[in-house]
Amino acid sequence: MKHLFVISAVLFLLAYSRVYGQDQGRGDDIREALNRFGQAEVLIEYPGYDAMSRLAARFSVSSCDGREAVLTLSPLTAPDFISTGIDYKVMLPRETKGFYTASSVAEAMQWLSYPTWKHYDTIMHNIAQTWPEVCMLDTIGFSISGRAILALKISDNPAADEQEPAVMLSAAIHGDELAGYVMLMRLAEYLASESSNGGLAESLTSGLEIWINPLANPDGMYRDNDTIIYPVRSNSNGYDLNRNFPDPVTASPPPLQKETRDMISFMEKNRFALSVNLHSGAEVVNYPWDRWTRLHADDTWFYDISRRYADTVHIYSDPGYMTFLDDGVTRGSVWYVITGGRQDFITYSLGGREVTIEMDETKQTPGSDLEALWNWNSRSLLRYIGEALYGAGGTVTDATSGNPLSAKVFIAGHDSDSSHVYSDTLTGEFRRYLAPGTYSLTFTCPGYEPWSANYDIVNWNSFVSADIRLEPEEHIIYPDPPVSGLLIYPIPSSGKFMVLPPASVEGDIIVTLMNVTGSVIDTYQTTAQSGIPVPCDYSKLPQGVYIISVRKLPDGPLLRGKVIINRLISG
Ligand SMILES: [Zn+2]
Repeated sequence: MKHLFVISAVLFLLAYSRVYGQDQGRGDDIREALNRFGQAEVLIEYPGYDAMSRLAARFSVSSCDGREAVLTLSPLTAPDFISTGIDYKVMLPRETKGFYTASSVAEAMQWLSYPTWKHYDTIMHNIAQTWPEVCMLDTIGFSISGRAILALKISDNPAADEQEPAVMLSAAIHGDELAGYVMLMRLAEYLASESSNGGLAESLTSGLEIWINPLANPDGMYRDNDTIIYPVRSNSNGYDLNRNFPDPVTASPPPLQKETRDMISFMEKNRFALSVNLHSGAEVVNYPWDRWTRLHADDTWFYDISRRYADTVHIYSDPGYMTFLDDGVTRGSVWYVITGGRQDFITYSLGGREVTIEMDETKQTPGSDLEALWNWNSRSLLRYIGEALYGAGGTVTDATSGNPLSAKVFIAGHDSDSSHVYSDTLTGEFRRYLAPGTYSLTFTCPGYEPWSANYDIVNWNSFVSADIRLEPEEHIIYPDPPVSGLLIYPIPSSGKFMVLPPASVEGDIIVTLMNVTGSVIDTYQTTAQSGIPVPCDYSKLPQGVYIISVRKLPDGPLLRGKVIINRLISG
C-alpha cells in the first residue's frame, strides 16, 4: 500500500546513481530477471506525458506517477526496450511462496492468504454448490495451457436469462496483481451467502445478474504450476492481455490471444451493461477513455460513479489510501494513453460500461493486508454493482407480434464514439446509464419505424422505465393491378421480376415460364393475394425473351406476358 511504495521509492533512490548511465552489458540484468522470474520489471524516470504515452504504446506500463514509472517486460518486449537506450533499474520481485499460500481450502476461505490453483478450483465449485439457488459456475474459456477461466453467476434463478441487467466483475487479467483475485472470491461468497437476508446483497442478486471472474489470466498467476511464487503480468505467450483487445486506434494490433478471444465470446454472449476490471500497481479508479484524450459522451456519469467509489472507500480506509491523481479518480488518458485495454473495448465495441480499479500500490499484497483492503473496498464494490440498477431502461418489442427486438438506443446531440447501446436480442431489454437530466432516447431497428421517448433522470438513484413497441414499417407501395393481362416489372430485368395479375385473381394459381417456342421451362403452384405481386427469380437462365403465364385454379383464364432477361441489368 502507500507506505510500502514510499519505502520502495527510497530504495530506488539509493540504487539510482549506481545503475543509471551504465551502458556496459546493457540488458544483462533484464535477461537474467526474465530467466529467473519470467518477466523483468524496470523502473524508469517519468519522461513527461507525451513520451510516457508513446512508451505505453510499446511496453506494458504497470505503474506510473509524475516522477517515475515501472515497465513490465516480457520475453517478447524486452529486446525492444533494451534497444531504446532508456536508463532503468531492474526491480526484483519478492518471493511470495509460504508467506502467501494457504495450506487448505478452509484456510484460503478465511481470505487472509492466497489459494493454490487446486484450492481456487475447489473454492469456486464450493460456492456454487453451497448456494445453488443463487449461484451457478460457468466457464468463460480456457487459457493457453488449458486452465479453465471460471466465472460464478450470482442471481436469483441463476439458470435463467432474466430481464435483468448483467454485471461482470473481473480481476487478475494481469497475473501478478493479486489483491483483486481474493477480493472477488470473497465478494462472491458474500453475495451468495447474504442473498436472502433482506439487505443490499438481496436487492442486488434479485435485480441483477452478477458474474464474478476472480482470475482472468491463470497462466500468468500460476506460472510456477500450482502455487503462486513468481507470478507474471502477461499470458504464457508473453502478451499483456489488457493491451490485447481490438482497438480502432491500433494500426498493427498484436495477435489476439486465446484468453482474449474466449473473453470476447463470453462478453458478446452475455452483453454486460456494467463491468469492472480490478488491478494493482496504483490506488485509483480509472474510467474511459484510455485511448483518446477527448471525453466519453457520458463522462459526467463515469466521473460520478468513480468518485462515489473512491469517496466511499475514504469513509472506511486509513488516510492516504486511494488518493492518487484526483483524490483516487482519473480519466484514463489524463494519466497516460493506452490502447487495447478491455475497458475501452467493452465501452466502445460492446455497448457496455467498464472502469478499471487499481486497488493497491503493491501488486503482491501481503496476506496480512487483505482483510484491510476488503474492509476499505467492499462497500464501494457493492455500491458499484448497484449502479447497474439505475438510469433509463425497459424493453423494446415488435408492436404487432410482441417479439423482442435488438434496437439501437441513442441520444441525438449527445452520443459520440459509439456511446449508444443496444437492446438485448433475446429479451429486448436495454439499460442506458445517465447522469441526472432529461434525455430523448431514439430507438431504431431495421424494418421498423423509429421512435423517440423522453426520460427524466431526476437524481443518481433514479430508474426510469418504459417499454417501447416499434411499429413495423409500412409495406412497400405496389403498382395498381392491371385490369386484364399481367403487369410484369421491371422490363428488362436481371431475371428477378414481379408478376402482378388483376385484382380479381386471388387464391391458388399456376405460374408457368416458357421460351419463345413454347417449351415449358418451369411451372409451379402458389397463392396469390389481391393486389400483391408474385416475385419470380430466374436469374440463372440465359438472357433472352420468355413468356410467363398465370392461371387461376381450377379453371380461370390463361393470362400471359413477356419477360426480357438482360444480364447487363444488375439486381
Ligand atoms: Zn494491471
